[in-house]
Amino acid sequence: MPVIIREHVKLAQFTTINLGGPASFFAECLSVDDVCEALAFADSHQLKIHVLGGGSNTIFLDEGFPGLVLKMGMGYVRSESDRNTVRFTAGGGVVWDDCVLDAVHQGAAGIECLSGIPGTVGASPIQNIGAYGQEVKDTIESLCAVDRLTLKPVIFSAAECEFGYRQSRFKSVDRGRYVITEVTYRLRKGGTPEIRYPELQKFLDIQLDVRRPGDTTTLLESVRNAVLQLRHSKSMVFDPTDENARSVGSFFMNPVLTPDQLKEFQSRVAALGKKLPNGFPADDGVKIPAAWLIEQAGFQKGYTKNGAAVSSRHALALVNKGCTTRDILNLAEEIERGVRETFGISLEREGILAE
Ligand SMILES: Cc1cc2nc3c(=O)[nH]c(=O)nc-3n(C[C@H](O)[C@H](O)[C@H](O)COP(=O)(O)OP(=O)(O)OC[C@H]3O[C@@H](n4cnc5c(N)ncnc54)[C@H](O)[C@@H]3O)c2cc1C
Repeated sequence: MPVIIREHVKLAQFTTINLGGPASFFAECLSVDDVCEALAFADSHQLKIHVLGGGSNTIFLDEGFPGLVLKMGMGYVRSESDRNTVRFTAGGGVVWDDCVLDAVHQGAAGIECLSGIPGTVGASPIQNIGAYGQEVKDTIESLCAVDRLTLKPVIFSAAECEFGYRQSRFKSVDRGRYVITEVTYRLRKGGTPEIRYPELQKFLDIQLDVRRPGDTTTLLESVRNAVLQLRHSKSMVFDPTDENARSVGSFFMNPVLTPDQLKEFQSRVAALGKKLPNGFPADDGVKIPAAWLIEQAGFQKGYTKNGAAVSSRHALALVNKGCTTRDILNLAEEIERGVRETFGISLEREGILAE
């Protein structure tokens, strides 16, 4: 069956922040053939393309998207295991958290701390999703994609994806070039959870005893439940009944400061008479919590302008409380300016603006 291409489709309904005008053209792709066909259609009509998964990290402009939106719908999961490993291979349109749940139930370790992150499997490598001390790059073995330039399928090993903190080649040098149709994750069979994040460790120590003898599945389930509870308390799971639901999660990334930048930051903090926040070691410097910078620059949780708000539970998330995309972008710019003027740090955005 040829892929169905619809016209003037409202996009807000496909995003968690629930913003944006219509797409000129819209195709839901259920197979690699659908993707190739939709891409060929866009080429022949000289249309821009935007690939859409669960829309949990995407903001469309109020005027919409003047091109073809490809919604990923491949929904299969296969798993195979040998003595020490379980391999999950999932279609690009599979809901990420379904994959995590499946892995946890099978006693396969490696992605349990990534429980509750909204979105799809196909998007998981794009910004190398991460939370509570885990990043998906550590379990991705390979992925399949369609190259928009050749309309041919290609396979990438994890090393070829050039992963970094909330980064990959698909978000940098090759942004927009590949449509990811399938990802294979290599998980540890019967592996115990690795708790690297102090907040999670503390929570587990108080709430649950993960060191209590038990089978791996029980331990992984405990970690998953703890992560979900923590995420709920910060409105960081997608729950339509939550007043902070309409967001893209963290709007900004935590800045990584070089030793020189760190010195400059420390002296600014001292001059302001503030107490330094805890930093975390990162590949090439120290990671500073962006939420702290935002609050200390004067944008408290709940700060609202024209219906665009800082989440009442987490200063990193900007929430649509009855606003437009322009209002969210204005608020983001105001926060960026405030943090730059107060601390000399430029915040980088995590979410994707589809233009
Ligand atoms: C409440 C909430 C909490 C969140 N918490 C976290 C968190 O803890 N950690 C974290 O890392 N992220 C988090 N996010 C952000 C988001 O969930 C992730 O970035 C997720 O991977 C996005 O998936 P998606 O399918 O919704 O992607 P979309 O928003 O649809 O797309 C995101 C980007 O990926 C591209 N893309 C999507 N699918 C494909 C594909 N198949 N092939 C090629 N390109 C594609 C899009 O073009 C776009 O550039 C959170 C978001 C929300 C709303």
